[in-house]
Amino acid sequence: MTHKSEQTRYDLAIIGAGSGGMAAARRAAAAGLSVAVFEAAHTGGTCVNAGCVPKKLMVRASRMVDHAHEMLTLGWQLLCSDAQGVSGRRWTAPRASGG
Ligand SMILES: Cc1cc2nc3c(=O)[nH]c(=O)nc-3n(C[C@H](O)[C@H](O)[C@H](O)COP(=O)(O)OP(=O)(O)OC[C@H]3O[C@@H](n4cnc5c(N)ncnc54)[C@H](O)[C@@H]3O)c2cc1C
Repeated sequence: MTHKSEQTRYDLAIIGAGSGGMAAARRAAAAGLSVAVFEAAHTGGTCVNAGCVPKKLMVRASRMVDHAHEMLTLGWQLLCSDAQGVSGRRWTAPRASGG
């Protein structure tokens, strides 16, 4: 008895599903080619999983902290009713000086 292994042929094989590999795959597929992408770790590669995207989230979070400190110097108060829940936090406007 013989076994025939199924084979699928692709026009293009790409190693790595990072920004480069995914862009190449998308363009090749849009041009009508069949594409196989091989990824050893995480789809999206460095940019999505460890580079650009997490960095931007961290930069945004650190800017929010800076803004919060700045608002405190302007007289705003940050009230926290629940340290866990964002919904419990609110800003209170500084009181008008009456001038
Ligand atoms: C901290 C940090 C911040 C960054 N911020 C920015 C930014 O703001 N803007 C910007 O433009 N660029 C940024 N970059 C650069 C950007 O991440 C890279 O230019 C981009 O990820 C390169 O894409 P790539 O597809 O060439 O490689 P990668 O994204 O690294 O993808 C390569 C992929 O190939 C896979 N792979 C490797 N070997 C094999 C194998 N043998 N078999 C199967 N899969 C394999 C890997 O697992 C990986 O997923 C940043 C990088 C870092 C580290």
